[in-house]
Amino acid sequence: MDDFLKRLPQLAKDKHKENKKYFAGLKKKPPKNLDYVMQELHHAEFERTDCLKCANCCKTTGPLFTNADIERIAKYLKMKPQQFTDTYLRIDEDNDYVLQSVPCTFLGPDNYCAIYDIRPKACREYPHTDRKKFHQITNLTLKNTSICPAAYNIVEEMKKRRI
Ligand code: SF4
Ligand code: SF4
Repeated sequence: MDDFLKRLPQLAKDKHKENKKYFAGLKKKPPKNLDYVMQELHHAEFERTDCLKCANCCKTTGPLFTNADIERIAKYLKMKPQQFTDTYLRIDEDNDYVLQSVPCTFLGPDNYCAIYDIRPKACREYPHTDRKKFHQITNLTLKNTSICPAAYNIVEEMKKRRI
């Protein structure tokens, strides 16, 4: 995993043009069974991916925090929501609450998440490769292929299968 993670930004860069073209085609004419196929590819990939050996998403990029996330996590940490946002979050250029710094404060040295059961929705759903209408998030996925080895592999599999 470590070696793949080291090579991933360059691998994704090398495939960027090809992936962009492929996603443009997918957006134009998404197959009727896309939701079903994405579920299958996502689950197959995560069967063989050990996120605990990676944690690259938690190390290099953070989730956005919804108000519901903030309230839930603050309560768990016995903090007021405002105190939680002041301590850990900032508002980004899209006006979303994000982490003040990465790696995420809640990531342990063993790659375990200290708030796993109540982690933000965006963390639970990352890298979003099993979401409905996947063709609507191709720009985000392009970015994620350079961060998440599983997202990279899923996109490669999509092209191989000519989905
Ligand atoms: S909250 Fe947990 S899952 Fe989300 S980025 Fe932080 S360590 Fe990772
Ligand atoms: S979701 Fe992707 S980037 Fe995050 S830990 Fe799992 S394989 Fe790594």
